[in-house]
Amino acid sequence: MAFTGGAPDTLARPGAVEEPRAAILAYHRISGEGGSPGFVAPWRFRQQLHYLRLHHRVVPLAELVASLRRGERLPAPTVALTFDDGHRDTLTEAAPILREFGLPATLFLATDPQERGEPFWWDILELAGLADPETLAGLKTRPHGEFRRAIDLVRADLAPDALADTARRRYLTWDEVRRWTALGHSVGAHTATHPILARVPAAGVRDELRRSRAAIERQIGHAVELFAYPGGRQIDFTDETARIVAEEGFAAACTTIEGLNDATSDPFALHRFRARDEPLPLFTLRLSGHLGMMKRWTVRVAR
Ligand SMILES: [Zn+2]
Repeated sequence: MAFTGGAPDTLARPGAVEEPRAAILAYHRISGEGGSPGFVAPWRFRQQLHYLRLHHRVVPLAELVASLRRGERLPAPTVALTFDDGHRDTLTEAAPILREFGLPATLFLATDPQERGEPFWWDILELAGLADPETLAGLKTRPHGEFRRAIDLVRADLAPDALADTARRRYLTWDEVRRWTALGHSVGAHTATHPILARVPAAGVRDELRRSRAAIERQIGHAVELFAYPGGRQIDFTDETARIVAEEGFAAACTTIEGLNDATSDPFALHRFRARDEPLPLFTLRLSGHLGMMKRWTVRVAR
C-alpha cells in the first residue's frame, strides 16, 4: 500500500535523501530525570525545536499526511512532532517549550490511565519490582493470552490504591488532555492498554482501536484519524494489523521504524525517528536521513 503508488520504498535509494521529504519525530518523555533512551532533557528539547524552527517547515502531522496523500512535492524539509502514550510531562514540560517556538504537535494517547485509572503493564511490573529489561522484552514476545495472564497475576498482588495513584501521577487526566488540545495540538489513538498488536487476535485489535478512539472523541470532541502502533517496531505489528487500522477508518498509522516519508510511503506504516537526548549534530544528521545512510555504508574491519 502507498499514498500514490510507485516504488514500495525508496528510502534505501542512494542519493534519495537529497530530495525534501517528510520526517516525523517520536518523543516519549521530556524530563530532566534521564535514565532511559526515551528521555529527552527539556534544555535539549528546546535546542532541537530551535533548530527545527530555523531549518524546517514544522507542520501538524495531519497536514503532513494530507500532502503526502495528495502526492504533493514538499516545498522544504518538512517535520511533524509526535508524543506517545500521554505522560504528564507532555503537558508540563513539552507544551510550554512548543509554545515558545509556536510549533504544533500530535499526542498519541493510550487511554487506560484516563478511562480506568489503571497504569500500563510496564508500570504494574515496575510496582512489583519486575521491570528489568529482560523481563519486559521477554513478555512482549509471548502470545497475548499468556501475556495478559502474567500481568493479571502480578496486578492481583498489588494494592488498588497503588495502581490508581501511579496512573494519576504519571499520566494526563482528561482535563489535561483538553488543555493540550486547547493549546492547538492534536490527539491520535494509541490503543487502550498498549499491547503489542502483532500478538493480539484480530477481534482484540479492533477492540483496542475502537475503545481508545471512542474515548478520545467523546472527551475532546474531535474526530481521531491518526494512529500509532504500540512499540512500533517491524515486529510489533503485522500486515493484518495495518489492514485492520485502515478498515477502521484511520487515515494513517505511525511506526517507530526510522526513515523519511514521501508520496510512495505506505500511509499505514509511516516511518518515525525516535527522538533522543543527543548532541545537535547527531540529531540533524539523523533527521536528514544521512545517519541511516552512513550506517548502511559501514563495513566490518578486522582488528
Ligand atoms: Zn507507546
